[in-house]
Amino acid sequence: MIQVVWFKRDLRTFDHAPLTEAAARGPVLPLYVAEPDYWRLPDVSTRQWIVQRAALEELSQRLSALGAPLIVRVGRVVDVLERIHSAVGIARLLAHEETGNLWTFRRDIAVRAFCKHHRIAFQEFSQTGVIRGPGARDRWAAHFSRFASATVATEPVRLTAVEAAKVAPLPTAETLGLGDDGCIAPQSGTRQAAFDLLDSFLEGRGANYRRGMSSPLSGATACSRLSVPLATGAVSVREVLQRLYAARRALVDAPPGLRAVPVTAVDSLIARLHWRGHFMQKLESEPALEIRAFHPVHQGARTPTAPDDARLAAWATGRTGVPFLDACMRSLIATGWLNFRMRAMVQSFASYHLGLDWRASGERLAQLFSDYEPGIHWPQVQMQSGQTGINTPRIYNPVKQGLDQDPEGRFTRRWVPELAHVPLASLQTPWLLTGADLGGYPEPIVDVATAARSAKARLTALRSTAGYREASRQVFEKHASRKRRIDDDNPRRRPTQRKPAAPSSTQLSLQFDEPSPPVD
Ligand SMILES: Cc1cc2nc3c(=O)[nH]c(=O)nc-3n(C[C@H](O)[C@H](O)[C@H](O)COP(=O)(O)OP(=O)(O)OC[C@H]3O[C@@H](n4cnc5c(N)ncnc54)[C@H](O)[C@@H]3O)c2cc1C
Repeated sequence: MIQVVWFKRDLRTFDHAPLTEAAARGPVLPLYVAEPDYWRLPDVSTRQWIVQRAALEELSQRLSALGAPLIVRVGRVVDVLERIHSAVGIARLLAHEETGNLWTFRRDIAVRAFCKHHRIAFQEFSQTGVIRGPGARDRWAAHFSRFASATVATEPVRLTAVEAAKVAPLPTAETLGLGDDGCIAPQSGTRQAAFDLLDSFLEGRGANYRRGMSSPLSGATACSRLSVPLATGAVSVREVLQRLYAARRALVDAPPGLRAVPVTAVDSLIARLHWRGHFMQKLESEPALEIRAFHPVHQGARTPTAPDDARLAAWATGRTGVPFLDACMRSLIATGWLNFRMRAMVQSFASYHLGLDWRASGERLAQLFSDYEPGIHWPQVQMQSGQTGINTPRIYNPVKQGLDQDPEGRFTRRWVPELAHVPLASLQTPWLLTGADLGGYPEPIVDVATAARSAKARLTALRSTAGYREASRQVFEKHASRKRRIDDDNPRRRPTQRKPAAPSSTQLSLQFDEPSPPVD
């Protein structure tokens, strides 16, 4: 009888409690199953497999060096386990908990049932700081703090392999039926990449973190870029946080003139990693959030968007005729990454200006993100689409964002080369130029200002529906952070009570209750 350690989105040997625990008890079969049914889902994509595959190669080398090579199989996990069990007998299956999409949620239920049926001990370990199941919100902050500062599981000194296990190569994208998805420069999600990113951030790249993160131009280097290795699990969020806590202590002790990055930059990054756990807890507590709106009134008002909807296609391919919006989408298609503010803007435009169902646009975005993390993604998609009833809805104005975040037009011209010759003054509003040759660039598919006004009117009407406030209160009870808003300038400063948002003609915001994540 053997022990199987099942790797999923935790492709590392450090801070890997299931591996450390199994290694202490006897021979280990480290298993990864590439599941073709998963890779056919509409929210996953080739770019995610490419990132995952490189992290698997790195993991495989490390496991071989420790003495037990990674055993890779292609198929349904339950079928693979069934075969191993009939061949050698599985005594224990060890894995990390996963807050994945509905498909992996159901897959994990099937694995649990399989283990129960065959009397295999199935041991799951926490790795993201979420509390399993619903009803966790009151205990969350204290739990996450304990989780983040708990001892990192040491890498096993050596592993004893299971003799009978045959090593097979990692499948290619083609084997899994995945074609070219237009990503020309996917970011690496390996452990090596994670520590290179952390080092460069702390050695100076992070100096411009808080100023540079809002623009897609500066954000690409100013942001931590840790989302991809965090999504593969090549590094754990606890490892990252503990490195940042230590760096913070050293910075505080250093004379201000000798600090490579300001303490506030490290605090900001720590705060974001806490919000990562906070968002993942929402999906963990309510897995159906991937397909059902937080708020029942918004759920009732939804109209499905057909997969071949022309507006959805224009938005997803960067051909809406709104230059900065299209530049962001085209850049995302090519690189697999976009900064937070621009992710919020493209999602908000799809839901508010174009009136598309958040599920349809959210699925397209998930495919385009090489850091797709369902627990962050679906709650964020809903939040940026005004579906929660407890957050301040923000209707981003893509013209204003273009002027603010790309004041010289470099980003827009790079990704929308049809407009390279358009004068800066008209770059974000080329439709106002009469008789200009726009090189085939489309007319805007909506009037930005009118569409925003209609969206605001729709929201206001929904908010006056009977029972809206009571339902919001229930969403708040289940999902909201129990902390009051933390000032992003200094997360250690006393939390401040949020002031009502000032009405604005260009950037709509309505006042609700939950404190927002750090705003960039
Ligand atoms: C509509 C929408 C969808 C998103 N989908 C994803 C997703 O699938 N995967 C993903 O990792 N992030 C997602 N985000 C959150 C955020 O945009 C990315 O984490 C960030 O842009 C990644 O770049 P970075 O690692 O340089 O982040 P940094 O800004 O340097 O932040 C560091 C880390 O903190 C976490 N984080 C940052 N901002 C947030 C936030 N607002 N909420 C929760 N966690 C946060 C991430 O783990 C990130 O890697 C989404 C945001 C929006 C608005």
